[in-house]
Amino acid sequence: MSSAVPVEEAAASTAVPAADAAVSEGQRSRNRCISRLEYAVTKNPRVQKMIAAIEVLGCPIPDSFFSCGTCGEKISGGFIPRQSSSSSSSSSSSSSSAGAGAYVPKLMMCDTDMDETTFENTMVHELVHAYDQCKIKLDFANCLHHACTEVRASSLSGECSYRQEFNRGNQQVHQGGLQCVQRRATLSVANNPYCKDVAKDAVLAVYDVCSHDTAPLDNDRYED
Ligand SMILES: [Zn+2]
Repeated sequence: MSSAVPVEEAAASTAVPAADAAVSEGQRSRNRCISRLEYAVTKNPRVQKMIAAIEVLGCPIPDSFFSCGTCGEKISGGFIPRQSSSSSSSSSSSSSSAGAGAYVPKLMMCDTDMDETTFENTMVHELVHAYDQCKIKLDFANCLHHACTEVRASSLSGECSYRQEFNRGNQQVHQGGLQCVQRRATLSVANNPYCKDVAKDAVLAVYDVCSHDTAPLDNDRYED
């Protein structure tokens, strides 16, 4: 089983019906995604900090790492922990990570309609998975591993800031961030076929520890 593909909770944006021809609208969406991706990689401080931190850990970002694609409805991006060589079933990939069969993950941004903040938050979210993947060799068949990286990604990316939650219509002030992180992490973990029945329990089990693990964005948890 080479890859589980975590996907994320929907962007909060409302899709605007296309007025133009479908083909040109599709191309325009793809072009917008690519230019946002390029901008984020070259200009966005949080994205750049994540990329640098991953490389410092010893995982150079391959040229093919970032891409844009067309996704299902309500998905804004995904981290694809794809191995270039086959691995045997559920346990550890390999103890020697470099060399032949090296891990080649991918980060795909969806070309769906989303605002710029959601786009950037999604990139940071997926880069947290890439960071964790590099740091501890995440095993996505282990639901506690998956839950932990989703809790970290949701809490560090800014997607659970008060403003983002407000825009989704979730306006509770008390513990709103906590509820948002737990809700979104649970949804993502539930998309993992290994974990769909235990997603909530896994998130609750790791929440306290993982929500306090803020590396590598220790001093600038994002709030917009
Ligand atoms: Zn995620």
